Amino acid sequence: MTEPTNNQLKPMPEDWTRALAVVAHPDDLEYGCSAAIASWTDGGREIAYVLATRGEAGIDTMEPAKCGPLREQEQRASAAVVGVTEVEFLDHKDGVVEYGTALRRDIAAAIRRHRPELVITLNHRDTWGGVAWNTPDHVAVGRATLDAAGDAGNRWIFPEPGLEPWNGVRWVAVAGSSTPTHAVDATPGMERAVLSLLEHRTYIEVLTDEDPETYVRSFLTGYAQTTGERFGGKPAVAFELFSR
Ligand SMILES: [Zn+2]
Repeated sequence: MTEPTNNQLKPMPEDWTRALAVVAHPDDLEYGCSAAIASWTDGGREIAYVLATRGEAGIDTMEPAKCGPLREQEQRASAAVVGVTEVEFLDHKDGVVEYGTALRRDIAAAIRRHRPELVITLNHRDTWGGVAWNTPDHVAVGRATLDAAGDAGNRWIFPEPGLEPWNGVRWVAVAGSSTPTHAVDATPGMERAVLSLLEHRTYIEVLTDEDPETYVRSFLTGYAQTTGERFGGKPAVAFELFSR
């Protein structure tokens, strides 16, 4: 039986030129989102990444002082694979990111610097589809990003000398949402998405005993295939889109 048509995801808006992706950790964008990023940069769009932390608490066998710089390097390499050269780190502490005005201020400043029309972030809700508990960093950063899209446009909130307000964010797109509304065809960007996630090699080798490429490919294609069931059968990357 076919799904009712109103259950289908709509295509993402195309009338924009700059996007800013704001997430908590190295690899947050590569676990599902970077096939979309690759096709957007192919189309000439400018995309920058802002990471709240360096993911320094992500590897049990490696001290944060060693882990942070390594994961930063892996993140820069994985961004480059999908055409993203600007990667910034806000230096909040991995694992204990606090939702609040300090985080909102830092994200609003990044939005004012980059002046994006589209802001991308990761699931800000308590769970992944009611199945698995989300991490506090994702919840804090996702929520603060949704809030900062508004903060950035108000000159009286977090005023900073030399930084003009930016009220041009038209949408915030939340990746990994269990209630997505929109999607992007994942096919053109899929090979680079695989290579991009593979750049997080140290992290992945600790995470799984499987061959890294087999693990990454089956994770990303499986996710895109499942999403595609609601996008005319094409492998897809889904977002929950909040318009402003
Ligand atoms: Zn994460």
